[in-house]
Amino acid sequence: MPVLVMKFGGTSVATLDRIKRAAKRVGVEVAKGYDVIVIVSAMSGKTNELVGWVNETSKFYDAREYDAVVSSGENVTAGLMALTLQEMDVPARSWQGWQVPLKTNSAHSQARIEEIPTDNISAKFAEGMKVAVVAGFQGISPEGRITTLGRGGSDTTAVAFAAAFGAERCDIYTDVDGVYTTDPRITDKARKLDKIAFEEMLELASLGAKVLQTRSVELAMRFGVRLRVLSSFEEQSDEAGTLVCAEEEIMENRPVSGIAYSRDEAKMTLISVADRPGIAAAIFGPLAEAGINVDMIIQNIAEEGRTDMTFSCPVDQVARAEKALNAAKDSGDINFHDLVADTNVAKVSAVGIGMRSQSGVAAQMFKTLSDEGVNIKVIATSEIKISVLIDRKYMELAVQALHDAFELEKA
Ligand code: ASP
Ligand code: MG
Repeated sequence: MPVLVMKFGGTSVATLDRIKRAAKRVGVEVAKGYDVIVIVSAMSGKTNELVGWVNETSKFYDAREYDAVVSSGENVTAGLMALTLQEMDVPARSWQGWQVPLKTNSAHSQARIEEIPTDNISAKFAEGMKVAVVAGFQGISPEGRITTLGRGGSDTTAVAFAAAFGAERCDIYTDVDGVYTTDPRITDKARKLDKIAFEEMLELASLGAKVLQTRSVELAMRFGVRLRVLSSFEEQSDEAGTLVCAEEEIMENRPVSGIAYSRDEAKMTLISVADRPGIAAAIFGPLAEAGINVDMIIQNIAEEGRTDMTFSCPVDQVARAEKALNAAKDSGDINFHDLVADTNVAKVSAVGIGMRSQSGVAAQMFKTLSDEGVNIKVIATSEIKISVLIDRKYMELAVQALHDAFELEKA
């Protein structure tokens, strides 16, 4: 039997009614002759609540126990989904990560998948089970402890299962009907894309377009998993949603495909560090060890042998970053005069594979922001994206202005 992976995000399983609705969708695919692997998220809001409880209990928590707590939301929806399918006379069984077992490394709270043995689930399919409902986002470490894959990790679970089982497709059901040129909540001119290249999706996902977890797209690209993003609230058709696919399949020739943003950024500046070989390693080594996701980095020009170093990271990692840097200072590895955190910044980015062949995109972006009176604090570029850090209060304005400037509402 061909295998199909169907992933339902938090809003698609937020209530018992919605679980029923999702289960009906699964039933339709089973009737077509598929063996279906359903990956579920926790009910929407659940994981945030669990994370909140952990933070309230312990500021610098033990990540093993964080995982024990936050993985539990998916256990509930997996069991409920299996029960709902059984009520519809569809033979279904739920699986927690450790039961599969979905093997990960030991990087608690952001573990990487190492292996998904298919024998257990395949044996059940052979016995007549039609649907394996798997709790997304979780796995088991070599030490036998529960791990989680990072926020949004059930997308990655879904793609990894699609790769492991050679699934025909991996359908990601969410609360939007596809991937848009930007967040439709910020501008109603946002347009749904029929197709988007893996690489663009990767940038949009990592830049905060919350549709898919970055790692899931990396994995899909590496294993050539056909990924479809679609809404669980609309009628299904074969053309529904957005197909995430190889660049070669895309005909559109525009410099920018989408505007992404990330609201919860912070800019941290180490004031006056010694400008000497190894200083960057001395700063970013401890940050990496502390699990800080450093994004943009700027080193100023040195004056009298000293310089400022600025970097950006997620705002909720500021306390952890400060702790790591102060520890490095205390141990004598780095010496800075002050550490200043600006927690009121956001990142806005223009993304497009067309940038490779068209010049002037950065100039147009900066001109657009300047026309709106938006001050740029940090700039970073890559082959297919240009990102700026700006005051958070101008984020919406910047996204709207850029969407207009690059005429993204036009098909
Ligand atoms: N429930 C987890 C989260 O909210 C994983 C997921 O839904 O993808 O991050
Ligand atoms: Mg998600």
